[in-house]
Amino acid sequence: MPWLAVPFSDLETKRSLNRRFDIEGIPSLIVLQPNIKEGTAIRDGVDLIYRYGIQAYPFTEERLQELLEKERDKHKNQTLKDLLANRERDFLLGHSTLKVPVSSLTGKTVGLFFSAQWCLPGVKFTPKLVSIYGKIKQELAVKGDEHFEIVFVSSDCDQTTFDSYFQTMPWLALPLGDLAIKDLAKYFDIRGIPSLVILGPDGKTVTKQGRNLVNLYQENAYPFTEARIGLLERLVDEEAQNLPKSVNHTGHRHELVLVSEGNGGGPFICCDCDEQGSGWAYQCIECGYEVHTKCV
Ligand SMILES: [Zn+2]
Ligand SMILES: [Zn+2]
Repeated sequence: MPWLAVPFSDLETKRSLNRRFDIEGIPSLIVLQPNIKEGTAIRDGVDLIYRYGIQAYPFTEERLQELLEKERDKHKNQTLKDLLANRERDFLLGHSTLKVPVSSLTGKTVGLFFSAQWCLPGVKFTPKLVSIYGKIKQELAVKGDEHFEIVFVSSDCDQTTFDSYFQTMPWLALPLGDLAIKDLAKYFDIRGIPSLVILGPDGKTVTKQGRNLVNLYQENAYPFTEARIGLLERLVDEEAQNLPKSVNHTGHRHELVLVSEGNGGGPFICCDCDEQGSGWAYQCIECGYEVHTKCV
């Protein structure tokens, strides 16, 4: 580190700083400013640096407001080409056709699949997404519609693992190590992988919850729009009326009780399939055991 430090032996100061700024986890970066009154310190320095880099300086309210507005404008005006192509590259990697023009995706619903082979949940989720991708494509093909595609955005460390992982996917990919990859992760504020961001036919973001929606609704989630998801939610609520109020599940020794979003439930990780869930679930509240209704 090229900066200063509180001496390691000065426990007193470390403790009092921890207390004063309520430090709950590290790394944490508190930014104090000259001539600014108590209590207005910027507390999410790490996050700001991650999102804006040196642009975040001098971390003032005005500066942050300005950056937020810029970001909002960028999202409002985003196009597929801006997101996926750059000056040196106007194509994506395919399988039978090695270079697929980015422009061929214009007007399609596009999923950006952030994953890597070192990420176990990613590797587990991929075959599920492959099967759902196939079903969506098949359903669309019947109508003569080809307006869906997925693009793999890889965080793999080397070409060999990228190649072997991409081999399992029937869709397109950004080249490994491409500059767009870091930019996209930052732009969509990707905190964990696997993650599936859905772009609409106009190139605008439809949802960043693609993974969750695929887990909940499988191929029915397509085209992932608010209207579609609203409809599915209503259907699920209706179906849930006919579900048993409690069940016995082989994976757990206690009886599980049906819960919903406003009624004891909430976002959870399914103890059966290890995937995210929300809304209706079967739960053992004492043990914190929770599963999708389809997983019992
Ligand atoms: Zn499950
Ligand atoms: Zn239990």
